[in-house]
Amino acid sequence: MSQCCGSNNVMLLACSGGSHVGQVANDCARRLTQLGQGKMFCAVGVAGKLDMPNGSTFVDAARAADVRVAIDGCGVRCVGKALESAGLPVDVQVVLTSEMPMEKGYNFDFGEAEVAKAAGLVADKLKSLGS
Ligand code: SF4
Repeated sequence: MSQCCGSNNVMLLACSGGSHVGQVANDCARRLTQLGQGKMFCAVGVAGKLDMPNGSTFVDAARAADVRVAIDGCGVRCVGKALESAGLPVDVQVVLTSEMPMEKGYNFDFGEAEVAKAAGLVADKLKSLGS
């Protein structure tokens, strides 16, 4: 897993929302996972405070991570707020509409450039955590 910020347990949680910024967030987390910058995890399971099939809970799994990365498509911050609601820290927060910046739309008209830029934003923030 990731060594980018000195942690080998970086959890990537994307809002995966029903807008193109939500799907850029999803693809960003997937890309970073493929690059070994962290591991994508089921954000909705955390938000719903659900049990996992292995007997643990999604919240407990998120608590066990060294670094929790909330990748939200827009300022509603569904992932960031879900972590906060569960009493967990948001170690890295990215909001694509304001930080890319990028309009929230519903035509899913985006490509590799947007995904790469979002992944770069997250990677830079992970590096800035240091250690
Ligand atoms: S953060 Fe915004 S885009 Fe993502 S799921 Fe929530 S409302 Fe949708």
